[in-house]
Amino acid sequence: MRDIVIIGSGISGLSTAFRLRKLGYDVVVYEKDEDIGGNIKTATQEGYTFELGPQTVLADEEVMAFFKEAGLEPLVASPSSKNRYIYKGGKLVPLPMSPLLFLFSPLLSLTAKLRVLKEPWASGPVKNEESIADFVRRRLGQEFLDYIVAPFVSGVYAGDPERLSVKYATRRVYALEQEFGSLIRGALKKKALGPKGVLVSFEGGLYTLIRELARGVEVKRENVVLKIRKKEDRFILDTREGKVETKALVVSSPAYTASYLLKDLSWSASLEFDRIDYVPVVVVNVGVKSGNVPEGFGVLIPRREGKRILGAVFSSKLFPGRAPAGKDLLTVYLGGATDREIIELSNEAITEIVQKELREVLGINSIDFIHVRKWKRAIPQYTLGYGKYLNLAKEMEEIHRGLFLTGNYLSGVSVSDCIRFSEVTAKKVSEFLQ
Ligand SMILES: Cc1cc2nc3c(=O)[nH]c(=O)nc-3n(C[C@H](O)[C@H](O)[C@H](O)COP(=O)(O)OP(=O)(O)OC[C@H]3O[C@@H](n4cnc5c(N)ncnc54)[C@H](O)[C@@H]3O)c2cc1C
Repeated sequence: MRDIVIIGSGISGLSTAFRLRKLGYDVVVYEKDEDIGGNIKTATQEGYTFELGPQTVLADEEVMAFFKEAGLEPLVASPSSKNRYIYKGGKLVPLPMSPLLFLFSPLLSLTAKLRVLKEPWASGPVKNEESIADFVRRRLGQEFLDYIVAPFVSGVYAGDPERLSVKYATRRVYALEQEFGSLIRGALKKKALGPKGVLVSFEGGLYTLIRELARGVEVKRENVVLKIRKKEDRFILDTREGKVETKALVVSSPAYTASYLLKDLSWSASLEFDRIDYVPVVVVNVGVKSGNVPEGFGVLIPRREGKRILGAVFSSKLFPGRAPAGKDLLTVYLGGATDREIIELSNEAITEIVQKELREVLGINSIDFIHVRKWKRAIPQYTLGYGKYLNLAKEMEEIHRGLFLTGNYLSGVSVSDCIRFSEVTAKKVSEFLQ
């Protein structure tokens, strides 16, 4: 019998495994794929080093401390990564980084700016749970939604602000309104509206994080877990290599997999988790001759601009060594909640779209290298009413002592959310085993 089995070797599973090992526990991780890391995948081809999943981690003090504990030295993105662009009317418009620059920015019309200035007097918190779109329209107006918030929502969730819950998808923003009755007042008092931290990656890309966390952890690759049953005080797992018994079980797979794994423990939980919407995303890494890619983090393209590209990260501008000399690397994103059909297109058709739109947006005429990666179920959507899934996970853990649920559908979707949540999970597991 094992003490702790973890299902899934994504960042949620591996950071939990790492913390539990540090606490002195014997841990084994079951991973269905040949490779570990889940969404985190770095590739190297033709002199380019590129990410197929997440690109950077927004690391606060807590996450930085975790990296240090893991013996990792993060690379901080170049200072120019503070420059972000929004594509509007055929041009890249810098995202204003201060209230004064905002007043002079061509990003919003004068009417929209006046509307934003009225924010502290907008109608206060409403009783019903609101979508991000309704919340932003109420507080800041439609143009602010279209040209600032919606592109950021697609940058994080590849999501549709009309469907995402402001309470669960953008917790900090929601909390500011609850606490201060105004985002502007709250931001001034707290000196920040968005999440705090620095953008980091690692030498060799984000996969370095995965490799280091897995060092010394027993990971059983290509070893899918098919079924979980509970017998008295232990769990019995059907794995590819036979039955495995464990006292504590951490399920860190995506919700749609947790759904079938939990079927024998709770039919209704299984049905509910299967309803969580994961949107498709296509990630296209493009190598180009240097010259057209500006210094900065990247560009977001509002849907109103009529493009299929959601945005592009200027990857070689963030960290050194991502492209050969004289070349730049861009990572382009397509799909999401507002363009699910893209996943059905062939790689050739996607390449054509990317080439055409990069020409229009950045004036790039020739491409040196291209790599297309499709994620059919990329990112879980924290839609209206999402609280019921979080409550359900808690209930499952209370009813089935020794079961712990984690993963980006419970912790928040960013890599740093997953890392922070692993501390909570590891603590719960450790208390249970004592
Ligand atoms: C295209 C893309 C871009 C992103 N960009 C960013 C970004 O720039 N910054 C950021 O912070 N976040 C980003 N994210 C989000 C972030 O990468 C993910 O939320 C996070 O990596 C999810 O980690 P996880 O461990 O919860 O899940 P996963 O990475 O999905 O890991 C789950 C693991 O469980 C395994 N598994 C599933 N079922 C079984 C089974 N039955 N038996 C055994 N193993 C099983 C899977 O194979 C997988 O390895 C991005 C995500 C995507 C898809």
